[in-house]
Amino acid sequence: MYAEIFHKEGFVVFEAENGVDGLDGATKNTPDVIFTGIVMPTMDGFTMMEALKKNVMTSNIPVVISSHLGREEDQQRARDLGAKAFFIRGFYTPYEIVEKVRAIFELPEYKIKFAINELDVAKMARDLRINMDFKCPKCEGDMVLAMKLVDAKNQEFSAKLVCAGCGSGRG
Ligand SMILES: [Zn+2]
Repeated sequence: MYAEIFHKEGFVVFEAENGVDGLDGATKNTPDVIFTGIVMPTMDGFTMMEALKKNVMTSNIPVVISSHLGREEDQQRARDLGAKAFFIRGFYTPYEIVEKVRAIFELPEYKIKFAINELDVAKMARDLRINMDFKCPKCEGDMVLAMKLVDAKNQEFSAKLVCAGCGSGRG
């Protein structure tokens, strides 16, 4: 079920039958995130996490646990092993879980508003043929610069003009 939902939501999904299979797949595919249960045949989720930690290829891949076991000792063990999140089945809809998983490895984004008389803002508006008041043609909201943090250490961003009101991409 989750494989189908993650796939629908734009993730490339590799499925695994059990912990051993999952470990093998993680090493081969080095995914952005691993979504696992605890109770699985052959190798359980915790044993798999321990093995992932020992391999430099997989040690930094964020692991998210979804389990029907909500026991505090399981949640504690998941934290100790560095799990990024622990979802007790039934507490969130699958779509809420997908959104939370997405948020784990999506880069933070900041919306920055312009002042037209500052530095190159007017020049940029001319160059991009945007109206000088930076209003969205669809909803009259403010066009802002949505900046995604690419590299926190070097303070590098990628940026795109978007409407703060309707999210439209063209000013
Ligand atoms: Zn708009």
